[in-house]
Amino acid sequence: MDKYARLRHTLAQRQEQHLYRRPRITEGPQQPLLQVNGKSMLAFCSNNYLGLANHPEVIRAFQQAANQYGVGSGAAHLVNGHSRLHQQLEEALAEFTQRERVLLFSTGYMANLGLTTALAGRHDTIYQDRLNHASLLDAAQLAGAKLVRYPHNDTRQLAKRLDTQTSGQTLISTDGVFSMDGDTAPVKELAALARQHDAWLLVDDAHGFGVLGARGAGLLEAEQLGQENAVLMATLGKALGTAGAFVAGSTELIEYLIQTARPYIYTTAQPPALAAASLASLKLVQTETWRREHLQHLIQTFRQGAAQLGLALMPSTTAIQPILIGDNAKALAISQALEQAGILVTAIRPPTVPPQTARLRITFSAAHNQQQVEHLLDRLNDIVN
Ligand code: PMP
Repeated sequence: MDKYARLRHTLAQRQEQHLYRRPRITEGPQQPLLQVNGKSMLAFCSNNYLGLANHPEVIRAFQQAANQYGVGSGAAHLVNGHSRLHQQLEEALAEFTQRERVLLFSTGYMANLGLTTALAGRHDTIYQDRLNHASLLDAAQLAGAKLVRYPHNDTRQLAKRLDTQTSGQTLISTDGVFSMDGDTAPVKELAALARQHDAWLLVDDAHGFGVLGARGAGLLEAEQLGQENAVLMATLGKALGTAGAFVAGSTELIEYLIQTARPYIYTTAQPPALAAASLASLKLVQTETWRREHLQHLIQTFRQGAAQLGLALMPSTTAIQPILIGDNAKALAISQALEQAGILVTAIRPPTVPPQTARLRITFSAAHNQQQVEHLLDRLNDIVN
């Protein structure tokens, strides 16, 4: 049997179903005007929500730390890879999120794997929103726990399912801001259910951290939920414009993760200079508050304009503003037509989203200006309508 036959079959299938993916090659920094495959494009698909990925102070902090600390961290945190800069970042994030302690992970994917497998095992049950990020779903598989998925943001269905559980520890996991829909989880109700059932509540605020809340500390700040209500996981590669992730919670929880979370223990720590860049970025989240205000203004402009054009907006007030298309081929064709017009918006198709809900995932950044948003609306009007 030709072992490549199966690979060829899957690849051909993906082509037929308009699900074939390939990376684009970008040149230069992450900003709205990008060089993509050698062509100048206006991009609306980055998670660089505050426009900090290319901020001069973040770059300077990265360069200075590289001069002082070199590039590689050399080892895992528990060997000798945990530098003073990693420590400072953990302390600054704990203060910002108003949690006792923070633990850094090299990526958000790994933070979700580490946290979930540390909190739930074979005799336990994990309840997850149907639209949770892939890393949370994969984490439940790795934990070997019973996985129960509930309809999107449906706390009544979740309550019913929780009532049937008879033994083991319970973990409820949810995205804070749903990555492909842009709406937010009903975290207050989820926290109440978690309290009632003595369950852990894990909120993955990858897309809310830096953007939501009065100080930008995310959805849990906006909803005033402290560490006794929910374990916070957030990433640094989105609004903060760097890379990596963290878990924030009580001292006991963090000490437990240090001893047991395998994706923390068995991987090389991020470069110290990256921690320095994240520290600089975290300061800017707190000082350059105009970024959040400008972003909100752009979101409002877009939603009003799109509603006037009759586009299928989704119920989102965040920087993620998808336009629902439905059919895979149609979503892809619109994305390609926008690309021809010099606008980069990705078509999101199954399995990333449920069947028949292919969409254009439009995201905004504080680095965009009003004219760019109006230009996008004009082109959408030409192409979709
Ligand atoms: N959680 C959510 C909700 C995400 O959107 C992402 C990234 N797309 C992750 C986790 C993974 O984070 P990272 O990119 O740092 O691995």
